[in-house]
Amino acid sequence: MKIVKIFEQPVRLKSSISNALVDFSTHTVSIIAVVTDKIIDGKPAVGLSFNSIGRFDQSGILRNRMIPRLLNAKPETLLNPASEKLCPEKILKCAMQNEKPGGHGDRAHAASALEIAIWDLNAKLEDEPAAVTIAKHFNRDSVIPKISVYAAGGYYYDGQHKQALQDEISGYKDSGFTLFKMKIGGASMSEDIQRIEAALEIAGEGHNLAVDANGRFDLSQATAYGQAMAPYKLRWYEEAGDPLDYDLNSQLARVYNGPLATGENLFSRQDVKNLVMYGGMRPDSDIFQMDPGLSYGITEYAKMIKEIESQGYDRKFAYPHGGQLMGFHIVAGLGLGGCEVYPKVFQPMGGFQDGAIIDNGFATIPDLPGFGFEKKLNLANQFADLFK
Ligand SMILES: [Mg+2]
Repeated sequence: MKIVKIFEQPVRLKSSISNALVDFSTHTVSIIAVVTDKIIDGKPAVGLSFNSIGRFDQSGILRNRMIPRLLNAKPETLLNPASEKLCPEKILKCAMQNEKPGGHGDRAHAASALEIAIWDLNAKLEDEPAAVTIAKHFNRDSVIPKISVYAAGGYYYDGQHKQALQDEISGYKDSGFTLFKMKIGGASMSEDIQRIEAALEIAGEGHNLAVDANGRFDLSQATAYGQAMAPYKLRWYEEAGDPLDYDLNSQLARVYNGPLATGENLFSRQDVKNLVMYGGMRPDSDIFQMDPGLSYGITEYAKMIKEIESQGYDRKFAYPHGGQLMGFHIVAGLGLGGCEVYPKVFQPMGGFQDGAIIDNGFATIPDLPGFGFEKKLNLANQFADLFK
């Protein structure tokens, strides 16, 4: 078996929203198709993926560095000798040839797209959902249960006021979600507290609402927000400060009793090791949000999970960032705590398969081979464009 071609295309996300720091309307994603010489139903077997969402396309790194490395490799060096299928670990290693360690930035997203495409491909070759392939690979139960999911949104839309935020959360609630996440830090603290109170009127208890500051605060701001939000007993307080400022996280954990969440901007096992060693994460409450779609793929993500478990943390506290189908299968296959979903934003990548049913905060992976992108029409059309 060998790779015969790899397509890559940057796609602009449909978004007119922003969080505390970032205007998503400029964001792009690299979509990938790895085409092989294997034939399924008379057509070449293809692995599809993209580099998560909420960042940028990686066309330069993919086209100039990683894709040529894979196409120039001897085909047998990329195979798992036992299965004779492409091996995700070997794909990642080959894509990373001549790259120095450390400095895990955009290339981690680029490598993710390639590595994750191989999981889609291998699942299709086995005619099973990617979650099942992932579970089998990591010796976990391949009977996939319903997955706990939460609706991420609550952004600062232009002119958004209390009613708009409440309407948004009501919409998620009506479609079956029980846990919601909103942005903070993009307005004054008093305005944000009013927004939190408005959201809670719909969400109910504080346990049903998480807030995300997107790394905006210094320690004194983070602490002030923590003090102001403490009475609401929110589900979690996400990325209060710079994601690499483990000291800030640790100091905040000492004064804020509620759960903290972080990790979506850590792209390697080593970064996660530093978080658990120096970030003050509390094993009985705090949430890990590393995103396999941004951090070298499932191979590296599984090492991150092993790292936190070796330090006494439980994978049930892992809720990967992402909000798309790849994350959904990875949560399901690895038995993680739950999955973010963007039901309305970041199209065509955000959200699950068309017609996905959210039942009291739980959802079922699509019953299709691979990640099931084919069951999300706007995304399937985007992938089809790759071949034109
Ligand atoms: Mg976040």
